[in-house]
Amino acid sequence: MPTFRTLDDADLAGKRVLVRVDLNVPMDGGRVTDDTRIQAILPTIRAITGAGGKAILLAHFGRPKGQRDASQSLAPVVPALAESLGQDVAFADDCVGEPAAKAIAALPAGGVLVLENTRFHAGEEKNAADFVQQLAALGDIYVNDAFSAAHRAHASTEGLAHQLPAFAGRSMQSELDALTHALEAPKRPVLAVVGGAKVSSKLELLGNLTAKVDVLVIGGGMANTFLAAQGLNVGKSLCEHDLAPTAREIMAEASAKGCQIVLPVDVVVAKTFAANAPHRVVPVDQVADDEMILDAGPATIELVKAKLKTVKTVVWNGPFGAFELVPFDAATVAIAQAVAQRTAGGHLLSVAGGGDTVAALNHAGAAEDFSYVSTAGGAFLEWLEGKALPGVEALRR
Ligand code: AMP
Repeated sequence: MPTFRTLDDADLAGKRVLVRVDLNVPMDGGRVTDDTRIQAILPTIRAITGAGGKAILLAHFGRPKGQRDASQSLAPVVPALAESLGQDVAFADDCVGEPAAKAIAALPAGGVLVLENTRFHAGEEKNAADFVQQLAALGDIYVNDAFSAAHRAHASTEGLAHQLPAFAGRSMQSELDALTHALEAPKRPVLAVVGGAKVSSKLELLGNLTAKVDVLVIGGGMANTFLAAQGLNVGKSLCEHDLAPTAREIMAEASAKGCQIVLPVDVVVAKTFAANAPHRVVPVDQVADDEMILDAGPATIELVKAKLKTVKTVVWNGPFGAFELVPFDAATVAIAQAVAQRTAGGHLLSVAGGGDTVAALNHAGAAEDFSYVSTAGGAFLEWLEGKALPGVEALRR
């Protein structure tokens, strides 16, 4: 039995179903410019309406800080949702009180209603008991389909789950399945690729991964800090020299826990941080004082590819080099494609997410072949850090 209650466990017919979704979509001039988040919630809405329930959507938009702010209304998102769904979508200009209650009463079974921005009320972010009660009064069932907001214990992401029978929506369910298979109960060995700019922003993540994975491949700017910590000259590379002792601690912890750390063995260096800057490939111990490391070299790519052949699960966060600048995207692209190919070949389960990772994998043309790419950002990172996400915990059986 899955660890989480899902829509398969819910009796939806004739019910008022309060669904927490992510409608925090990018907008320009009142129009939705990227509908990825809308597409993600359609299966949940259709499951509810198809079963004869009323789908009543709760969401935040922007950061109105507990006050009504017309510029952060969810109203402009409604036409885009209706178009994607292929059905009318009603709107209530408050998420609690009379406007919400009236709109819900008027909504037919199988209908869809969007309630105004939950963050127009200070009680949302405070998870205030009276606000939770006001929301709970509007529904019979609570469904959370917003993994991206699950790291916050707000009224609509956590509080409500304790007041109404609570279930994971379809997109939440896919995310939880992917995450569970990647780190909680993975097929071993597990390899993690961690790249990106700085060690300081990923300390907790590295600490958690050394305890959970068998091989930890470190790339990107953060690898420079590890190389410097081993006494190597990294020239004028992005490097947090003050974190050398921390990097050494992480390496010692990893070795104590049986986690193998893989660092670049060769690097691509340039004298300026710019696309197409003149560059050369050198072993890691031959970086000159006036050079900076912008990518991992071909020997490192081969080394990582060889490691990939020894594992059954891959977790990925962060680019392997300065991937926005051609040709310093080469290692990110080659390694992402290798993971994608082994996944498509049925050899690997691969889960990626957080920050620039989605952009990097899209740039590599690799995202589609990964088993799962999370667009959740902060929630995905907190999960990689081993933190319990309040919105997820509230859905456990
Ligand atoms: P993060 O948000 O921590 O995942 O970092 C992503 C950023 O790290 C991207 O903008 C990359 O360009 C940058 N990055 C990766 N490797 C390097 C490097 N060797 N030198 C400078 N920046 C890098």
